[in-house]
Amino acid sequence: MRPATTAIHGGFDYDPETGATAVPIYQTASYAYASAAELAEVFHGRAPGHVYSRISNPTTHALERRLAQMEDGIGAIATASGMGAISALMLGLLRAGDELLTTRGLFGGTVSLFHNILTRFGIIIKTLPPDADAFARAVTPETRVIFAETITNPTMDVLDLEALSHIAREHNILLVVDATVTTPVLGPIKRLGADVVVHSTTKFINGHGTAIGGAIVDTGSYRWAGGRFEDLATLAERAGQMAFLARLRNVVYRDLGACPAPQNSFLMLQGLETLPVRMPIHCENARRLAEFLDGCASVKWVNYPGLADSPYRPTVYRLYNGCAGALLTFGLADGADPFACLDALRLARRMTNLGDARTLALHPASTIFAEYDARDRTEMGVTDDMIRVSVGIEDFEDIREDFEQAIAKATE
Ligand code: PLP
Repeated sequence: MRPATTAIHGGFDYDPETGATAVPIYQTASYAYASAAELAEVFHGRAPGHVYSRISNPTTHALERRLAQMEDGIGAIATASGMGAISALMLGLLRAGDELLTTRGLFGGTVSLFHNILTRFGIIIKTLPPDADAFARAVTPETRVIFAETITNPTMDVLDLEALSHIAREHNILLVVDATVTTPVLGPIKRLGADVVVHSTTKFINGHGTAIGGAIVDTGSYRWAGGRFEDLATLAERAGQMAFLARLRNVVYRDLGACPAPQNSFLMLQGLETLPVRMPIHCENARRLAEFLDGCASVKWVNYPGLADSPYRPTVYRLYNGCAGALLTFGLADGADPFACLDALRLARRMTNLGDARTLALHPASTIFAEYDARDRTEMGVTDDMIRVSVGIEDFEDIREDFEQAIAKATE
């Protein structure tokens, strides 16, 4: 099946008992069996089935299958949030003394997880410039994971994932990529060399701001049996390539408890069905808004990787099927108050989310990054004048008019 078809039919055919074509919401905590022996078989993974919804659920399972197919992976685990996915992944993989290499400009929650939580368990975080050569130089025998975002939120850096993947392969390091802002629709990033893909499904995948969720996909590229994660390497000798997902589900995910509610998995499945239709409109509206802002005399700067003067333009269009994403940031002329612009918006919503059908705008420095001091924020690429916009799929002229009048009010 091609991507637009997988988005609708992947992972679920129809319910053979009732004929239901929408995935039924199995709103159940647990599952009954006719005999104690049967329950024991399923419990120990010797027979297929579900035992407890913290570990697996049929609605969530359909979402996992569909996401795995869309990412061209060997399997997926859906989680209660994007942060649930990243934390389960890192706590499941890393141990004290291991090093994780990453870049500046990541989503604020991920930065906080890495620096406030993982470091407490002795994991070493190295934050590097968004440049593959810097990664090549930083690798040591302790490096286990490279973590990257496809287009960083909110600095809009576009890492050359192919180059990172060569470094990862050369040193047998795992390349984990957060593809929240590009989604499987701008291209399954397995083809660029990602070993594990994570998503906040809250964003474009859900598409309507109705639920929080996340996912981890194993693309099948990393050879766990010969890999640098000792426990997984041993398990993979017996269990093969599914070792990572099996350990994640049966130990890490089970013990950390970040499972999604079945109702939320249903909403993610529904969102996925229209993702291939929505994503190109999001990106086209974003490109047009970036170009409009770029031409406004009272706008000092615009950061969108698809703009002609962006150093990332060739890479972003090459890697992501001719699209540059739906997020942009901009700053008004000196002295203008970003809050005044945000408050004057009539259509765009002042909200801390992205990937909604609606256009959303926020001031990152006073919200997502407020816990950091000014110097740290500058290092993270978050300036005090920065306004971030997640461009929706409304009529472009309405979006443009809204920003035009809001900017005029804030700079008059
Ligand atoms: N990754 C990225 C790139 C994000 O933008 C976000 C949230 O904004 C997350 C992860 C965390 O996702 P969630 O809010 O679903 O926990």
